[in-house]
Order: sequence, then C-alpha cells, then structure tokens
Amino acid sequence: MFDSVLIANRGEIALRIQRAARALGLRTIAAHSEADREAPHVRAADVAVCIGPSPAARSYLDPAAILLAAEATGAGAIHPGYGFLSENADFAEAVTRAGRTFIGPPAGCIRTMGDKVAAKGAMIRAGVPCVPGPDAGLPDDIDAVRGIVEGLGYPVILKAAGGGGGRGMRVVKDAAGLAEALVVTREEARRAFNNPEIYVEKFLTHPRHVEIQVIADRHGQAVWLGSRDCSLQRRHQKVLEEAPAPGLDAGLVAEIGERCAEACRQIGYEGAGTFEFLYEDGVFAFIEMNTRVQVEHPITEETTGVDIVREGIRVAQGLPLSFAQGDVACRGHAFEARINAEDPETFAPSPGTVTRFEMPGGPGIRVDTHMAAGGKVPPYYDSLIAKVIAHGATRDEALARLRGALAEARVDGVATNLALHRRIVADPGFVAGGVDIHHLTRMLEGDAGR
Ligand code: ADP
Repeated sequence: MFDSVLIANRGEIALRIQRAARALGLRTIAAHSEADREAPHVRAADVAVCIGPSPAARSYLDPAAILLAAEATGAGAIHPGYGFLSENADFAEAVTRAGRTFIGPPAGCIRTMGDKVAAKGAMIRAGVPCVPGPDAGLPDDIDAVRGIVEGLGYPVILKAAGGGGGRGMRVVKDAAGLAEALVVTREEARRAFNNPEIYVEKFLTHPRHVEIQVIADRHGQAVWLGSRDCSLQRRHQKVLEEAPAPGLDAGLVAEIGERCAEACRQIGYEGAGTFEFLYEDGVFAFIEMNTRVQVEHPITEETTGVDIVREGIRVAQGLPLSFAQGDVACRGHAFEARINAEDPETFAPSPGTVTRFEMPGGPGIRVDTHMAAGGKVPPYYDSLIAKVIAHGATRDEALARLRGALAEARVDGVATNLALHRRIVADPGFVAGGVDIHHLTRMLEGDAGR
C-alpha cells in the first residue's frame, strides 16, 4: 500500500487531488511545469518537482519526465487526473512496470476502451445497449460498406476507432456522399490517430448526452453513482452539466446503471469511470467510456455524498469500496458551470493575468478552482479556471442557487464565459430541462441570425 501520491496534472483537478490525498494522510508530490511554479497545489504539496518547460508536450505529456520525478521523489503512486496522460495505456503500463501504482484502471482496460470498436464489442457482450451499427471496423470494399450502411439507413456517422476529443467523425446524409466521406475519414484517422480503422453508426438527430458514473474496486465490487446530463455542449465540448439527468424514467436509468456496473465486473475495471450514452426517444445508446475521473464529477459527489477522488485513491491502495450499491441514493439535484477564460464571441482562449477574482458562496454552493486575483492563465493549457457547482433539494432550488452564484461571480483581467452561463440559466428550454445536444448551438446561432 502506497503512502505518497505524485500528481501528474495541473489546474483545479491537481488541487482537488492534492486535497483528497492530504485528507487521507498521504504525502503529496506536485510534478509541475515551469508555468505552474506558483500554482496553489504546488505550494500546498509536501514536495514539488519541476518536470519541464511550459508547453504540455514537454512536461505534463512527457511520460519519461514524470516517471523520473516519481523515481527521484520515491512516489508510491501517480494520479493522472483527467486529460494529459490519464487515458494513455502505455503510460499506465510504464508506471506499473516501474513498481508504482497507477491511480486508475489496469492498462488493459484503458487500451480496450480507448479503441472504440473494441469498447463497443465489450459493451455488447456485457449487455449494455449501443448505437445501432456493427461492432467491427469497416471493410475496404466500397460495395460491402454500402451494404452495411443501407442496412442501417441514412443518416450515419463514420468514426475513427482511435478517435477522441470530438475529432475523427463525419456525418453522411445520403448515398451520394458516402464514397468521399470514407476516404477523408480514413485518411484523417490515419494521420491524427495513427490508426486507419473506421466504423459506422446510425446518426441520431436529436439525442441528449446522458452518462453514468461508476467506481469499482479490486475485489470485484462495482457500483454506479447515478446519471448526469451533459447535453449543453458547443463543438462537442461540455459547458454546463447537471445530475441527475432530468425527466428520465428511474427504472430505466437503474437498469442501465446496473448493466454498466456489470460491464465493469466483466472487464475487471478498477477506479472511477464514466459510461457515455446518447439518449433519444426513450432509448439509451452507449458511445464511449472514459477511464478516468471527469471534470463534472463534483455534481455526482454533491448528489450522492460520495467523495469520488478519495474513493479512487483508496481502491488504488487495494482497499474495498467503503460503501455498497444499496448505500447509494440520489439526494436533490446539482449543476456545474464550467468557467473558462475565453473570448465570449470567438470562444478562443483568453490567457493573461486575472486582476479580480470573486467567487460565490452560501448554502449549496461549491467552487472548485485553482485561480485567485493576481493568478495567471497560461496560454499553454485548457482554459478552465473554475467550476461553479450548485446543489439543492430540488432542481428548481439548485437552479436558483446557480443563478445567484453566477450573478455574484466576478472575473477581471481575462475574458470569460460567465455571461454565456448567465444566459443559459435564463433560457426557457434549459429551465424546462431535457434539451438535446444541439440546443446550445441553436441558441448561439439564433444570435448570429439577428
Ligand atoms: P469523442 O471520443 O471524440 O468525444 P464520442 O464518440 O464521445 O467521441 O462522440 C462525441 C460527440 O459526437 C457526442 O457527444 C455526440 O455529440 C456526437 N455523436 C457521436 N456519435 C453520434 C451518433 N451516433 N449520433 C449522433 N451524434 C453522435
């Protein structure tokens, strides 16, 4: 069992991990880039090691630099957070080979779930419903592909097996567009993901994004922690999330949740993870699994009372989960607004020095942030500077608290998306609940049309 954790990440999640590890009495080691010397998790850590220059490719994405820092500091475990190396199976394997604990699932699970075709196959075997389409890559022969696609019916979506981050996908509306789309998507897959394998799915026209949080231990226990709705997205990037997903049949959600937990047991999953689904016309369809803690984990923590980051560290220590499925209940409702340092018109990142930083408080409000007045938003990384989380006994109460919190928040020095969030929480569709994944885009296009 390890007694120290090296945090191989930055920003709010690094601070979140630092706090959880410290609360467990573990020695904490911050592996940081030059740009993050003054970061709060670096100052709070027992040991800080600079692992390289500011660009992520030379620090947070450099496995050798992180492994060297772990060796130099005698770190017993490495927590990858989200993004960066968190879903890199080779890195997880290298950590284990070096005799340290990777806080996350076994490398084999990361590898299977990172290949979307393999993931789909594993889910079908576990009885998790998937988007219609074969759980195999497409053949090269165009006539064979035509046969498969016609069986599904247009529109369809072509996807790279190795794709991620919303890239490597192409919607095909009719037979006329198929041949070219195949060539372009395959070429893109080869170049971007070094894997030319592509597959096809039915394209759902008005789905919601609903996901199930899971956590599993090494002793064969796997539990699901309720649902989240992350339909408010722009260019496949989540903007505002809520838990639970509103208006769904509780029996159906429980059935899907149980299947996800069963899938974890079947593949020998360990740690925190998320099954992502598209939900349309009363039907759940699996799209992918994220084999790590997610940005939006706090809304599940607020509604279930489970500290997901703490539990993830404990199961990596080999301990059994500290609760069983029967102990998990959903209390009330929670929202999370991702506050990004970005231009409100172009959505381009807005790096700079934050001159004023006032975050909300009061009952039901939690803010996960690494930022403070005088802090810098470096140009090298993701632009997330804070997560404003609101919890309430009902959806209405949580939403009222979120509205108040967003009205209180003040950030100067860098541009932010605070105004966009204030608009979203006043939008009638969003207030009613259950909007699809195109809702935010439609809302923004409405502006352009004026
Ligand atoms: P990535 O790993 O790149 O995030 P996903 O498979 O999770 O890719 O898909 C990202 C997004 O693309 C989804 O959230 C959804 O908006 C859209 N999408 C993916 N598959 C489909 C589908 N079959 N029908 C409609 N939209 C889809």
